[in-house]
Amino acid sequence: TPLILWIRRDLRLADHPALAEAASSGRLVIPVFVLDEVAEAYGAAPKWRLGEGLAAYAKALEGIGSRLILRRGAALEVLRALVAETGAGAVWWQRVYDPAAQARDTKVKAALKAEGLEARSFAGALLFEPWEVETGQGGFYKVYTPFWKAVKGRDVASPAAPPKALRAPEAWPASDRLEDWALGAAMRRGAGIVTKHAHVGEAKALDRLHGFLDARVQDYREARDFPGRAATSGLSENLTWGEIGPRTIWHGGVRALQEGAAGGAEGAEHFLKELVWREFAAHLMHHTPEIASQNWREGWDAFPWRGDSDAAERWRRGMTGEPFVDAAMREMYVTGRMHNRARMIAASYLTKHLLTDWRLGLAWFEECLIDWDPASNAMGWQWVAGSGPDAAPYFRVFNPAGQAEKFDSDRAYRDRWIAEGQKKPPQTALDFFAACPESWGLSPGQRYPKPVISLAEGRERALAAYASRDR
Ligand code: FAD
Repeated sequence: TPLILWIRRDLRLADHPALAEAASSGRLVIPVFVLDEVAEAYGAAPKWRLGEGLAAYAKALEGIGSRLILRRGAALEVLRALVAETGAGAVWWQRVYDPAAQARDTKVKAALKAEGLEARSFAGALLFEPWEVETGQGGFYKVYTPFWKAVKGRDVASPAAPPKALRAPEAWPASDRLEDWALGAAMRRGAGIVTKHAHVGEAKALDRLHGFLDARVQDYREARDFPGRAATSGLSENLTWGEIGPRTIWHGGVRALQEGAAGGAEGAEHFLKELVWREFAAHLMHHTPEIASQNWREGWDAFPWRGDSDAAERWRRGMTGEPFVDAAMREMYVTGRMHNRARMIAASYLTKHLLTDWRLGLAWFEECLIDWDPASNAMGWQWVAGSGPDAAPYFRVFNPAGQAEKFDSDRAYRDRWIAEGQKKPPQTALDFFAACPESWGLSPGQRYPKPVISLAEGRERALAAYASRDR
């Protein structure tokens, strides 16, 4: 009987244990993506990016004699219907770890099993399953460094090779048309502009990895903090949609570490450490799913966070008058990505200088990032806000001007994204105005805004709120 391969955020052929086993089993395989309750809830940019990824993946599957069937509806109902139509005896999938998806998968697995089907989930999205890393006391890790020490020497299985062919059923079940889903519809900023910056699909992801390991990994450790330089891998976008597997990246990094003993080893080790931050985020989310919605640390519910405000709206629009922060917000609006240092500065400014609840920032990132990852986003926000595990202490308030001095002293980053005041602004800075909705009333000829709040006043207000909070 055929086997349904339920595809989710795993749009790749290589390094895909479930797909590899399905191919070698000799069974007829029906790959299907379901636009279900979990995917329907994605923000505008992730949804658009999902659509691009699905189009590329459908082509890749055609290249091995298969197809991607598209269906819309509640996951369990759709899978049941497909089983009935095709006579499939099994549904396989690769695990994901965010709470909404896990709840769905648990329900689906139990129901299909109860109906006598083979419902089987596979590893592949992570290097280490969240429950396979335990402290000496048998608990989960709340601090990154011991987590890293616990995993760094472990063997990581070699990535599975991409299958050369997948056996197709005699007749394919009907499929929706991707265009009819209009996954880009909610993208208010011109999706055309984000397209210029996206790297869609497995082949581009592998190019990115090799380009990074060939040319940039040596300098990664020092250069990764400078948002004006192209010093990082850019792979988060592809990891999020599963267009590359973490084992492929891990083994690439380990090879660079071994070959680069002369000078590249430090960079390669640091790169592996960053990749493990992603694992740590998934680990935390698996063990404390509330990390995405509630203050992780005790005592923080009493903190006087502010709700939405004009100031927060100016933050979203890249109009705070603080150039490093605005450059970051505009970069995200135009490209769907933001440099890691810029994420920290922008998040710190919102939660500290503007005293705004981190959940507002988390939601805006979820709306705008094409590399949106529920676990890394939640961990990042709570880390910056001071309310999360292994967090930066609240009293460490990033000074965006000082940070700009240090990490953007040649202004490369700010000039790339802020048109105002430049005689000949670069296309990137102009694209921001083309991308943002007319209702914002912004234009490149406008005067750059005055700061929402002075840095000194914002800092003092944040520290006073912290000191007075009821712990
Ligand atoms: P590289 O420097 O090349 O690193 C390689 C890989 O390591 C990345 O692709 C990523 O998978 C992982 N990684 C690196 N840094 C981190 C980190 N701090 N946390 C978790 N994983 C990391 N990352 C996301 O993928 N999605 C998000 O939604 C997201 N939201 C964030 C929100 C905030 C407030 C902060 C501070 C960070 C967030 N990050 C998020 C983490 C980080 O900023 C990005 O992973 C990184 O900028 C991606 O760029 P890169 O692929 O070039 O990274």
